[in-house]
Amino acid sequence: MILTNAHLVGVDGVHPGWGVHPGWIEISDGQVVGSGGGSRPGLDLGGSYLAPGFVDMHVHGGGGAAFSDDPAVAVGFHRRHGTTTCLASLVTAPIDVLARQIASLAPVVESGVVAGIHLEGPFLAASRCGAHDPSLLRAPLPEDVATLLDAGRGTVRMVTVAPELPGGPDAIREIVDGGAVAAIGHTDATYEEACAGLAAGATVGTHLFSAMRPLHHRDPGVITALLDSDAVLELIADNVHVHPALISWVLRAAAPGRTALITDAIAAAGQHDGDYRLGGLEVTVQGGVARLAHGGALAGSTLTQDVALRNAVAAGVPLVDAVAALTVVPARALGLDAGSLVVGARADVVVLSSDLSVDGVMVAGSWIVQPSAV
Ligand SMILES: [Zn+2]
Ligand SMILES: [Zn+2]
Repeated sequence: MILTNAHLVGVDGVHPGWGVHPGWIEISDGQVVGSGGGSRPGLDLGGSYLAPGFVDMHVHGGGGAAFSDDPAVAVGFHRRHGTTTCLASLVTAPIDVLARQIASLAPVVESGVVAGIHLEGPFLAASRCGAHDPSLLRAPLPEDVATLLDAGRGTVRMVTVAPELPGGPDAIREIVDGGAVAAIGHTDATYEEACAGLAAGATVGTHLFSAMRPLHHRDPGVITALLDSDAVLELIADNVHVHPALISWVLRAAAPGRTALITDAIAAAGQHDGDYRLGGLEVTVQGGVARLAHGGALAGSTLTQDVALRNAVAAGVPLVDAVAALTVVPARALGLDAGSLVVGARADVVVLSSDLSVDGVMVAGSWIVQPSAV
């Protein structure tokens, strides 16, 4: 199959640099087997954008289901919005409950439906708990970290830790030695404590700005440490968690090439306003904004990555940079072979109309959403 008369976004076979170029790609056996500039006979996409499938490194659910309840529903929902690779994020729970959730998700990872498990908790700061039950948060003991990693048999891909907790840097080393990515988040870390976490091997910042000690010029804190590091920084581009001016500033000036646009979506994404649950806590969604029923803290989002793309571009982010933040940057942060249209890549593609709405989604060479040209 040849998809032609498209504007390829990102890296293609002709142009090594990131850009938007007219061209085509050829797909066979679920893989990209060729690409080039100009036109070839094939499925005419009428000049639409053709981007790699999006990669969401932080998402709890969607379409009415959490990953811990029905991963197929959550994956199916986000695929229709362009996300072809995602982690399954789990919120804080008792260690034995988390271990059971991990064990039941491990086969889902091994079958390729999701790319790995993200543990957001329980090693988080109670003072920055956000929508995590503060009574279940704890400092990381080596045996608890080992229990959770072992339960996943290699499928736990990322663990978020507050590095200022007793044993925080040791836990970060244990996570990295265990083959997972350590992320810094839900943290009250000072600049020095955050630097210690980065020195121990943390390479991701979990939803930058949210659930973190705020930046102050005499107390630069974890945000400055993350911005001034090589870590990949997650941003929730729903215009609720982070102001659009900061979205464009982080991508342009502070962390170009190392910003990942995530959804942090919960089961309520794609559903009506109403009452939902996130882990053991009650969540109320009003006007598409999810908050804890008690206390009113933001509780994830109802965002999808196609909306994140449009929000970022509306905030002034160049299209190629926004697409990189949705594809190759999170893929690289997780060590995943995804987020690119180069020859040999799995044929995960998103067709985007000129207004950046999703017109087609292909996973491993099969259309999940048929483009209007078909
Ligand atoms: Zn969070
Ligand atoms: Zn989350």
